Amino acid sequence: MSAPEHLEESAAALASEAVSPAPSPERGVDILTFGCRLNTYESEVMRGHATGLDDVIIVNTCAVTGEAERQARQAIRRAHRERPGARIVVTGCAAQIDPDRWSALPGVTRVLGNEDKLKAESWTPTALTQGNAVSDIMAARETAGHLVTEFAGRTRAFVEVQQGCDHRCTFCIIPFGRGPSRSAPVGAVVEQVRALVASGYREVVLTGVDITSWGGDLPGTPRLGQLCRRLLALVPELERLRLSSVDPVEIDDDIWRLLESEPRFMPYLHLSLQAGSDMILKRMKRRHLVEDAARVIERARSIRPRIGIGADLIAGFPTEDDALFEETLAFVEQASLPFLHVFPYSARPGTPAARMPAVQVVERKARAARIRALGEAAAQAYYRSLIGQELSVLMETADSGHSEEFAPVRLTKPSEIGGIERVRAVAVDAGGVVAETI
Ligand code: SF4
Repeated sequence: MSAPEHLEESAAALASEAVSPAPSPERGVDILTFGCRLNTYESEVMRGHATGLDDVIIVNTCAVTGEAERQARQAIRRAHRERPGARIVVTGCAAQIDPDRWSALPGVTRVLGNEDKLKAESWTPTALTQGNAVSDIMAARETAGHLVTEFAGRTRAFVEVQQGCDHRCTFCIIPFGRGPSRSAPVGAVVEQVRALVASGYREVVLTGVDITSWGGDLPGTPRLGQLCRRLLALVPELERLRLSSVDPVEIDDDIWRLLESEPRFMPYLHLSLQAGSDMILKRMKRRHLVEDAARVIERARSIRPRIGIGADLIAGFPTEDDALFEETLAFVEQASLPFLHVFPYSARPGTPAARMPAVQVVERKARAARIRALGEAAAQAYYRSLIGQELSVLMETADSGHSEEFAPVRLTKPSEIGGIERVRAVAVDAGGVVAETI
């Protein structure tokens, strides 16, 4: 599962945006995206379909936290205020779950479901004048494998290999926004990756709601590691392949083998941990225990000592008392993971956890801050451990990018955006590693 996937990216979005994104003053098609990588990817699919439309603002919502929804509502109000003539189309998980609520907002002319938003026919000028189109997501059985070859302003491309989720973690509303788990066939994924590589991308990230369930609905039930192996074999020009977040109990043997021996498979794992207390994990209905997570971390470090490991954690889940929180804190401290995404628990109406005895909001925030502080210390220690080492950095701006391990790296001299630079880490600063080109 990938609560992490959603949570992670939503968190990043929330952290980086003190205010909601604003529409551009230009007419044409404007897309305001909230939430996870998958939503970012799907915004690009919509951008392709909507090319040529005039004065349309698409708001692609996220349902993972109440805050993500609040920001989307704020963005819609602002868009309507600043471009009152524009047609506002609302889609994404929050719109899928409760379309009427979004339809009622000022300026909203249409609400589209998560399946409907990806169909070309939803974006004709005539379709835009029609009412809402929100199909039953729980009946969705396929994912189309949409082809996206350009990502506005990005050097790293994301390919959606999987949609939906069959798990029912007690805090998560996502299955109701995304439907059951379904996988893109290998051929479609290969075709997409080839197209991305041909248009200049050097790194591809496989993404989805629950990518470690990839293949469960395909003939022969292949596993994610097999997809990665085949991709690397069939697209030899692909230089870097990375996974977005993975469920620790679902890492298959091929993934371990690739981590061990394939230099094009990035030494990076983002784990959907959520808590470091067995009692809380059980109440979340997660499928791993703390010991399972510890084993994965140890194994990953034993085969790739420099591996970058991240994790998602929820602070202040209902029933988490001081003692249970201390268990999580102790685990986080001991594991020393450099890339933590920490979220104060956000109750999603309709989920089982929303009916459990809640921790006070202020306490959730305080606990999240304590875990984040440990994460920051772990990140600094990790960056320091890289000093003196050679790194390979994909340049995202003229002087910064990420290493294979996903460490943020700043170069002392500018370089070409989109290039891969061999560098040596010479220092650390608040943002990550400082390095010199070799
Ligand atoms: S139900 Fe669990 S596994 Fe599925 S998307 Fe939500 S958090 Fe991830």
